[in-house]
Amino acid sequence: MIQQCRLCDKEKPLEISHIVPKFIFRHLKKTSPTGYIRATENPNRPVQDGIKLPFLCGDCEDIFSKWETLFANKIFYPYQNDEAQEFKYEEWLTKYLASVSFRVLVYVYEDTGLDYFSPEMLAYVDKAIINLKSYLLGKTEHPKEQRQLLLLLDFLAPSSIKDGPENFNSYMGRAIEIDVLTTDYDSFIYVKYLKFLHLCPISLSTNRGWRTARINPKRGLLKVQNHELPDYIMNKMKKGASIFTSSQDKISLKQSGIIQSRLESNIQNLVDSEIGKAVIAEKLIKK
Ligand SMILES: [Zn+2]
Repeated sequence: MIQQCRLCDKEKPLEISHIVPKFIFRHLKKTSPTGYIRATENPNRPVQDGIKLPFLCGDCEDIFSKWETLFANKIFYPYQNDEAQEFKYEEWLTKYLASVSFRVLVYVYEDTGLDYFSPEMLAYVDKAIINLKSYLLGKTEHPKEQRQLLLLLDFLAPSSIKDGPENFNSYMGRAIEIDVLTTDYDSFIYVKYLKFLHLCPISLSTNRGWRTARINPKRGLLKVQNHELPDYIMNKMKKGASIFTSSQDKISLKQSGIIQSRLESNIQNLVDSEIGKAVIAEKLIKK
């Protein structure tokens, strides 16, 4: 099927692309006690691979997969497997993160029209897509306002989880969730998978809470540390955790009263899984 590639805009045969990279689902499946993944929207239907659809041409898919492989081997597997806590990175990390931000933003925009965004905020979405595209195609040195943030979720602090739902820690360690969110003043892309939280601003009224987790576009050191975060991100995580919890009890998503959330998948049976290792930086909660 010939369609327009979302990245290079050329009319070409499109490949079936993953919105959240496939290696993440593969790892989740491999480390889950039941060996399969179920979608939160329909807890009875196992979902092995997450959302995938014709999205990119072969050339653009190849560009993305090069960065994915670097991230998977240099950061994702060593961190998930508790083999390292500090990671040197270079430009490929921002490229990888920007490629995921781009996929999630375009996918959710096409899927929902972002009809919950104000017209003013929606104008920033179009701009963000252009910035991410230019950067991913190598036309600009950095993604401008679409700075990439990455947090390593670790550091066990159960006593600090005062108001959070019971399963906050299992959400922190195991859930995969993508969303595009807006408040009256700020909008951003939210990508949570296993022990990683990845954020990308669309438009911010202030940088407060958005600074410490920034990834340098050229090189840097990523490590487990305390981060400042805006309250609405914490609230988003708590909501995600409550959906994660209620879906495990097979309560319908609608009953949770949350419409815009799109939990991609989770694990139903967490007995003896990595759940005990699911942790969070203390400051995330206390903020
Ligand atoms: Zn392309």
